[in-house]
Amino acid sequence: APAPAVVQDAPAQLDGWRHVYSGKVREIYESDADASALLVVASNRVSAFDHLLEPEIPGKGAMLNELSRFWFSQLPVANHLREDAGWDAALSPELAARAMRVAKLEMYPIECVVRGYLTGSGFAEYERTGAICGVPLPAGMQDGDRLPAPIYTPAYKAPQGEHDENITYEQTVELVGEQVAARLRDVSLRLFTAASTIAAERGLVLADTKFEFGHELGSDEVVLADEVLTSDSSRFWDAASYRDESLPLNERLASFDKQIVRNWLKANWNGEGVPPVLPASIVAQTQARYRELIDRLTR
Ligand code: ATP
Ligand code: MG
Repeated sequence: APAPAVVQDAPAQLDGWRHVYSGKVREIYESDADASALLVVASNRVSAFDHLLEPEIPGKGAMLNELSRFWFSQLPVANHLREDAGWDAALSPELAARAMRVAKLEMYPIECVVRGYLTGSGFAEYERTGAICGVPLPAGMQDGDRLPAPIYTPAYKAPQGEHDENITYEQTVELVGEQVAARLRDVSLRLFTAASTIAAERGLVLADTKFEFGHELGSDEVVLADEVLTSDSSRFWDAASYRDESLPLNERLASFDKQIVRNWLKANWNGEGVPPVLPASIVAQTQARYRELIDRLTR
């Protein structure tokens, strides 16, 4: 089913950059001077249950960028950042903090999801079918359980306005060929393991995440793109809370993202019509939660 239309502010006019695309979270610009470059600007928009919410979360876009930059610096894989000295000279500091200059890639139409733990939509699919994306799992697993080993559960990246759809590894082979499909899977699993180790050193559990990759025209090198291991694309849990079985499950599995927004909406909205405006306290708590993840990872 098509997602509801999203109403959003007109994108900023930027010297030297042409606006070409609005995603749910990001604005994409092409360069007037360099056809191989894109400017990707993360907004402060927040959505839940397929609705764009009011107001925005100040600082969210900059915090997402801070997280992606941290992980790009940590992960042993080619990435899409192309920021030569002075790349942001024409941008205001506020905009520069939300922007990344990247290589314009041909994106593979696959969301490379890796799960180390069973929860969320993966748990729901497991409860219905005993498997996720065709990967069979042991019987009797509960929400939040650690998987025997991380699993690759790809999704087809649907065209704008449509919902992404879980697919099997074999279907990724049909989409991109055997070689690329295997590379996407192997790199995703390798990055997930590397990131899980870094997270664990900081008292965090990386439950699951989604990577996106592309390649430059004329090259078949797989390049890590989009946002990486942010609170929008990943579930991080506090390791101490996760281990504390005296806590209720929702506290053990409290993620460092907009869960606060989702919980508030669930309690204050019946899902019909326009969602209510978020109170200032919910905005502040959400900001603090995003900030806490960055502080713990990068300090
Ligand atoms: P959609 O694009 O379907 O709206 P989304 O809401 O997640 O999904 P955003 O995160 O708002 O999208 O926008 C980022 C878009 O830019 C994504 O479509 C992503 O695949 C694409 N993208 C990210 N990095 C690159 C890159 N280096 N080259 C080309 N496209 C990229
Ligand atoms: Mg995205």
